[in-house]
Amino acid sequence: MIAAVSQSFVLRAHLLWWNDDPFFAGQSAQISVPDGAMAVGADGRIAWVGEAANLPNDYTAWPEVDRRGTVVLPGFIDAHLHFPQSAIIGAYGTDLLHWLDTYTFPEESRFGDQAHAASIAAIFADTLLRYGVTSACVFSTIHPVALEELAAAFHSRGMGLLSGKTAMDRNAIPTLHDTAQSAYDDAKVLLEALEPQYDRFGYVVTPRFAITSTEAQLDVCGSLHAEFPHTRMQTHINESAREIATVAQLFPNDASYLDVYDRFGLVTDRSLFAHGIHTTEAEMARMAEAGAAVVHCPTSNTFLGSGLFNPGANRAAGVNIGIGCDIGGGTHFSPFVTMQEAYKVARFHDQSLTAAETYYWHTLGNARAMKTNREAGSLAAGKWADFIVLSDPDDDPIAALRLAHAETVEQRLFAYQFFAPQIQTWTRGIQRT
Ligand SMILES: [Zn+2]
Repeated sequence: MIAAVSQSFVLRAHLLWWNDDPFFAGQSAQISVPDGAMAVGADGRIAWVGEAANLPNDYTAWPEVDRRGTVVLPGFIDAHLHFPQSAIIGAYGTDLLHWLDTYTFPEESRFGDQAHAASIAAIFADTLLRYGVTSACVFSTIHPVALEELAAAFHSRGMGLLSGKTAMDRNAIPTLHDTAQSAYDDAKVLLEALEPQYDRFGYVVTPRFAITSTEAQLDVCGSLHAEFPHTRMQTHINESAREIATVAQLFPNDASYLDVYDRFGLVTDRSLFAHGIHTTEAEMARMAEAGAAVVHCPTSNTFLGSGLFNPGANRAAGVNIGIGCDIGGGTHFSPFVTMQEAYKVARFHDQSLTAAETYYWHTLGNARAMKTNREAGSLAAGKWADFIVLSDPDDDPIAALRLAHAETVEQRLFAYQFFAPQIQTWTRGIQRT
């Protein structure tokens, strides 16, 4: 797919977005404009948004894209998933470590091949667009060429990408091991090549997790993160019992799993920690103090039997929360499925997530976790015109019965988590699906 040239237009629809976390800020966090208009410039950015009746004269001559009768939200953002695991979703197994050894590492070792990486990157990006995801924070593999192909695939579709070369120098399989030095050198070359080339790409320092990196490698990752202060850092933490026990064996002098990362300068306000299911109160307090984010991956956690993430405990501690599908431990690319599973997981803690809370996580909440909220996550003037046009599912009589009970837009969005709507996806002001 080649990036088309954008044209300015005015979108007419029911516009809805969040400008703060509705769990803390309440109803005022939600902006709902039933008879809305959004002016999108030829630069692919939102020029103006508000009531259609108040459209400024500057934009009244722009062509109209009429989507009245639909609900338009900001494009979804996914804060944690693995592009090289697209082919192993739903692979039969036992727990995390078994699943990594049996399926993940052999599959990821194929991504040094440029043609293979390019082919999967295209399928991966197209699939995200099909489900309304317009930007993401993604794991690649150790191979520089895999990241290059992923960045090109996202750019050609107008999508935002945060990613980095995965660093792992032990405890995988030999074909998937780099070294501390090559992890540093490759990351620096990729960062300096890709960021100037692609305006929506940001480099993420990416030690896979503490088990697969030596202290020397975690040390160079911390150095990179400090040397390039705009970089994000992503890794995994506190996902499964066996993983946590292994980390304790490998790092006997650290008081906790988070302390391992903290010792190497990897706990910052630009850090994203996937899972965080079994995080202790002390670890949560430290994450909150640093401004780090935890990324909840509910379909992965139930598929692998890793445990049940507790949103309330993380909120009470002041930890920023993001959400992701964690393909291929996760079982579906669709944010609707991820939000549905998050709702179910929270019920095990006697918590009930509203539609506003889960959709916020998948839009502005993830943008805040990824520090892309100046560019994405809501329908505010100046941001990229990344948005999704939602309408009721077609040819589904049960969905129609259920949606007949939806009297408000919030009730409709809540039901869409269980009866996925039809989706049109736009990035940079261009319709992609
Ligand atoms: Zn993951």
